[in-house]
Amino acid sequence: MSTVASSSSAPQANNGGIITQPPPPSTLRESRIATHSHIKGLGLADDGTAMDVSQGFIGQNLAREALGLHLSLLKLGKYSGRPLLLVGPPGTGKTALALALSQELGSKVPFCAMVGSEVYSGEVKKTEVLGSCFRRAIGLRIKETKEVYEGEVTELTPSEAENPLSGYGKTISHVIVGLKTVKGTKQLRLDPSVYEAIQKERVVVGDVIYIEANTGAVKRVGRSDTYASEYDLEAEEYVPLPKGDVHKRKELVQDVTLNDLDMANAKPQGGQDIMSVMGQLVKGGRTEVTDKLRKEINKVVDKYIEQGVAELVPGVLFIDEVHMLDMECFTYLNRALESPLSPYVVLASNRGICTIRGTDKDGQGIKSPHGIPIDLLDRCMIIKTNLYNKEEIFKILELRCKIENIQISSKALINLSEQGEKTSLRFVLQLLTPSNILNKIKNGDNNNNNIVNEEDILELNELFLDSKKSTELLKDLEDFDTKY
Ligand code: ATP
Repeated sequence: MSTVASSSSAPQANNGGIITQPPPPSTLRESRIATHSHIKGLGLADDGTAMDVSQGFIGQNLAREALGLHLSLLKLGKYSGRPLLLVGPPGTGKTALALALSQELGSKVPFCAMVGSEVYSGEVKKTEVLGSCFRRAIGLRIKETKEVYEGEVTELTPSEAENPLSGYGKTISHVIVGLKTVKGTKQLRLDPSVYEAIQKERVVVGDVIYIEANTGAVKRVGRSDTYASEYDLEAEEYVPLPKGDVHKRKELVQDVTLNDLDMANAKPQGGQDIMSVMGQLVKGGRTEVTDKLRKEINKVVDKYIEQGVAELVPGVLFIDEVHMLDMECFTYLNRALESPLSPYVVLASNRGICTIRGTDKDGQGIKSPHGIPIDLLDRCMIIKTNLYNKEEIFKILELRCKIENIQISSKALINLSEQGEKTSLRFVLQLLTPSNILNKIKNGDNNNNNIVNEEDILELNELFLDSKKSTELLKDLEDFDTKY
């Protein structure tokens, strides 16, 4: 599988593999997705028609239906490297649509959102940024049958003893875990390394856990009350071990992305200068992912797939502001799309005809729709998004207020919706949290009984300008400058 775009979470290191535990996901990308937390899917009926308000989606019916069809193509495997291009004004739900597509593909399907301008950095090559985003959007589901101890935790005690090695103080010599299983309660006396794993998973009494027999890896699978009914613990077959412990074979499933594997296996970057050391302190260990490392990871992934231990899960890579990419990036994109292991790529742009970056010479450049080279544009399935009317904006705002726990009067909502129609959905959505804070500052944090009213909105309008107002203001100033 050398064709894997050289970027996800992984199995524990075992059988000499190079795969280790993944690092936490980037908070920047998480926060980018948080604004879409109300979106749960495309909100389509069984016949593929868009329901007016469903799964957090309001309006934009034609685009949702078109995406539904595209989804059917993907599911039939008739994808063949054709990216989807969403075109429409800012704030018309292009990112939300791409996210909904990934949710429709499955809850464990990776979704990576990036902005075209992200590729320009002083430190990292453009194609390197694109490459890691591709790998963030390629998932790997690892299934392994392992012997595990499994049951509800009834007791959890690290036992202390003299540390024979250091000679100083006390250290944990073993861990007692009481496990209630179908065959009764067992006390397991485990190696101290398990204690670390238990702490990492924040296991407490009443949780259902399993402990891998060979590696001691601990996985918390839920609380006993919900877990037992969901997984029908009673029905599972337990294999008694010679030691007399309760043991069983279990298929463990772990979803990771190729990028998680890259990051988890990258070596800390060298350098003893103060900036490197600071960087390591601040970022918790800087890493350098090389092509060589990616190739090695691809080889291991290949082996896992061949052995039937893992399967690839293509996710969705969303590239917003695609017109910000230049020729070099488009060349990379074309090549990566041809890889059989490419994720589903969704591009978006709110620009019309513009110069393709990287082609301009002496102010003359190649112009193209959305700043995308014609050959790539030709491969795209293009879907348009439209501006919202005030009724639709009202419903979207209402939904966001519920999610963000903001109480707001209907007059204030109507005012915001009218403004949104004249300015943009994004602008009025951005006013919600400040309006809530302003109300609390004025009226005191009234046991969560604060209700944002029209006055708060009017006051905010004096404080913040929408893009149209600010352009007009600057234009007035320019006129003033040229006249006087
Ligand atoms: P841009 O071109 O500036 O990147 P965009 O078209 O990607 O904008 P989004 O970021 O998807 O717009 O939408 C802005 C906000 O409005 C997000 O919080 C999104 O979840 C919400 N939103 C947009 N359209 C809808 C919709 N039809 N239903 C519910 N929420 C929506």
